[in-house]
Order: sequence, then structure tokens, then C-alpha cells
Amino acid sequence: MAKQTFKILFVASEVAPYAKTGGLADVANALPSALKALGHDVRVVMPYYRMAKEAGKPVRTILDSLEVPIADRRETARLLEGELSNGTPIYFLQKNSYYDREFLYGPPQGDYPDNAERFMYFSRAIPELLRALSFRPDVIHCNDWQTGLVPVYLKTLYQDDPLLKEVASLYTIHNLAYQGLFWHLDMPLTGLPPQLFSPEGIEFYGKINLTKAGIVFADVITTVSKKYSQEIQTPEYGCGLEGVLRARSAALYGILNGADYGEWNPASDDLIAAKYDLEHLEGKKLCKKDLLTEYDLSHREYTPVLGMISRLNEQKGCDILLDVLGRIVDLDVTFVLLGTGDEKYQHRFQALQRQYPDRIGVKFGFNNRLAHKIEAGADMFLMPSRFEPCGLSQIYSLKYGTIPIVRATGGLDDTIQNYRVKTGRGNGFKFQEYLPEALFQKTMEAVTLYRQNPKAWHKLMQNAMKADFSWKKSTRQYLEVYRIAKERKTERF
Ligand code: ADP
Repeated sequence: MAKQTFKILFVASEVAPYAKTGGLADVANALPSALKALGHDVRVVMPYYRMAKEAGKPVRTILDSLEVPIADRRETARLLEGELSNGTPIYFLQKNSYYDREFLYGPPQGDYPDNAERFMYFSRAIPELLRALSFRPDVIHCNDWQTGLVPVYLKTLYQDDPLLKEVASLYTIHNLAYQGLFWHLDMPLTGLPPQLFSPEGIEFYGKINLTKAGIVFADVITTVSKKYSQEIQTPEYGCGLEGVLRARSAALYGILNGADYGEWNPASDDLIAAKYDLEHLEGKKLCKKDLLTEYDLSHREYTPVLGMISRLNEQKGCDILLDVLGRIVDLDVTFVLLGTGDEKYQHRFQALQRQYPDRIGVKFGFNNRLAHKIEAGADMFLMPSRFEPCGLSQIYSLKYGTIPIVRATGGLDDTIQNYRVKTGRGNGFKFQEYLPEALFQKTMEAVTLYRQNPKAWHKLMQNAMKADFSWKKSTRQYLEVYRIAKERKTERF
């Protein structure tokens, strides 16, 4: 059978290296690039934020005046074009009054008050720019709430449009905890018929819910791991949308994010003290020393270093960790943290650091170089998340031979298997219950193995470093769901 090539428009509110607040930006760069490398016609589109402008990469204007409806008026934007590193075209929607701001979604104190308008405009610009460019993709791949209205527009206002009527949509949920909830008075901004503000449409407990919009109207829905795709259909993880997701479960798929090994590989990483690989592990010892120096901690060869790089919030398991961190370091373990987020957690980590100054190191802020040093220099990597749609850090840790200790949730459950000495199988340590004691016991198991059975630990490192989580497999799975989305387009509505 001849290979099917797709035309894809990939729509995201952030794309690395232009603008990044989380994992979505990495995916929005890596996946389109991987598809392009396979010969597909893929184009990316994002807002032209100040941050994107300041990235200083060349762009050219391709549409000087693109009219986009918003509420009962039409506002003009400009469309620019640039390229990702492998030549994948990326379009930027330039509308300075919305996007030329210091932050993407708002300052640390909270969201911008006009986020509904900013991203409804962005979503409405998608069908309009396709018309202006006469580009008919097979599939529009939407990501998270900022793009949730695109599938709605295709199924309503543009359903008879000669160019767009056959275009399918795919909606990817990267984190269901962020839904794009806005009050009902924003409904006229959408330009949609008021009847759509209903339980069958985009209404959610009296508000507009843009994630629900994507879920209800897309031809296919994906999320970033198989386990998370199951979890979000339950009340515990569904954030109130579990019923909506269950109703669409036949169209819901879990596809794991891949790792960019060009960026995260100890054999070629320029940001770490010494490069190393499976056959030459001496470099990892130097990285450990270097990491401890960074944190002003003393080096003891047989003391394991437990690393953590994380947003500090409810999701990432800070509360259960803080309850037992003192007991963990009492096992003769050194703990280093790099994080940003809730001040209440920062204060508690700082207080423990003062209590155990020779065992605990904490640094707050976003620091990519230090993140690489932790991945390389630590012996173990901690991710005790309450929920984790995919998680990238544990995947990077595997490559660096830094053994993950994780809770069995979402992508952590899909990527980490408990190591068993008897069989020599497994790549990490995984506990089930979201409880401080479960985390403590699992960490103690890891520390005991590290100290008492270096041979087994070496085998475990080998298993971890050999694992392949590159984009290859996931790209194939996305191509399969693009095909399904195209097929479904003709069946639904
Ligand atoms: P999430 O997207 O939920 O924050 P992931 O594990 O999927 O979690 O991705 C986190 C990414 O962000 C990793 O590449 C990690 O190294 C990076 N990261 C997180 N916090 C920091 C920080 N404070 N400094 C540098 N990098 C960070």
C-alpha cells in the first residue's frame, strides 16, 4: 500500500523555542518536526507573543491584513511565517493588543482578565487564515483549552465552507487541570449560536468551558499517556469532565510524549560537567561531585543523591514529600531540589533545609542548565505526583541512569516498571498509594538496593539507559489517529 501523506495544521498556544511555560511547548516543536521529517506537509501556528518576537529568529509577513471576527466586530491581524530548526513552517498570528505582553497567560499573581478574548480570537483566526491561504489540511491538530473552539467552529460556522467542510479535527489534552473556564457573559465573543451554551455544548456549571468544547466537538481526542486517558474518565482525575470524556471514550486515545534525545542525552550534553554513557560511567561520578558543589554540599561517595526538578504545587506531590523528607535524609541520603511555584511549599522546603543544612539543597527559579546537572549528577530522581499526564523528567532521568522513584499515576505508571533483583527486569521504583508512608518505604527500598547491591544497581542503570522513548513510536501513533480523525469526519454530524 502506498504511504499516506497528510496535510496537518498544528495549533498551539506555545511552541519551543519561541515561547514555553511547560511540556506542551516541547511537544509542539518536536512532533511537527518529526512529521515533517517523514515527508508530511505540516505547518504550526501560534500567537506572536512578545517572547516569540524577542526570540530574534527571522520571520516574514505573508498576510498583511487578516480580518478575524470577534464578538460583533472584525479585528485585523497580521500573519507572519518562520521556520522550526528542520525547516517546518511556523505561522505567527500578530495582534499586538492581545499578545505583545510580558507573559503568555498572565503574571504570577493570576491570569490576564481578557484571556477568553485573546484565545477565542486565536481560535477564530485558524479557519480564517486557512481560507486566506487557501490551505486545506486533512487534520487540524489542536492542543489544550486555548484552541478548544477550533473544532467547534469547524462543526458549526464553517461546516458548509467549501474549503473547510472536510477538514477533521484532533484535540489533545496535555493537562486536564487547566480547562479554560470563563463566565457566561463571554459567550458573544465566540460568535457562536447562543444554543451552544448548553450542557450538550460548551456550558459547564454555568460557565464556558473551552476544554469541554474541544472534547465534545473534535473528531478524535488524545491525551499524553494511555494510563491518563483511562484515569481522566474517573471522578478522581476527571476534574468534573469525566462524564463528558466517558461519553466520547470511543474516540479517546492515549499517546505518550517522546523525549528529544538531541537535547537530553548524557553522551552529548554540553551543559554537564562530564559526558558519559552506558560503557563509560566515570563521567557520572564527576557530574555528582559537580552537582554537590553547585549546592554547597559535601561529597560522600556512598551517600546517594536524590534529585527533584519540579513545579511546586498540589500536582507534583510536594505535600507527601515534605511530610517524610526529614526521615528520608536521615537514611543518609542527600536531597537536591530545583523548583518554581507555591510560596507555601518553598517556605517548607527552606525550613527543612535549615534543619538539615548538610543533607538538603534547595534552589528556586527556572534554570535549564541546573536541570541538566541534576539529571546527570543525581543517583535517583523523585516524582511523587498526585497526577501526571505524561511527565518528561522521569523519561530524561532514565537516559541519564538516574533512577526514577515515582508514584504509579498517568505517564509515570506507563514508563516506569519496578525493578526486581530476581529477574533483573525493571527500570525504577514505583509506589501506588498517594501517602507519605508509601513514598518513604519505596525510597528506603531504593536506598537499600543502592547501598547493599551495587551489581543489581548497575543492572538497573543499564535497563534505564537502554530504554528508548524517542518520538519515533509516538509519531507513528499520531499518524494513525490522523487517519482515524479523517475517517470519522465523514461519519459524525
Ligand atoms: P510539567 O510539564 O508538568 O511541568 P514535565 O515533567 O512533563 O512536567 O516537564 C517538565 C520539564 O520542565 C522538564 O524538562 C524539566 O526539566 C523542566 N523544568 C521544570 N521545572 C524546572 C525548573 N525550575 N528549571 C528548569 N527546568 C525545569
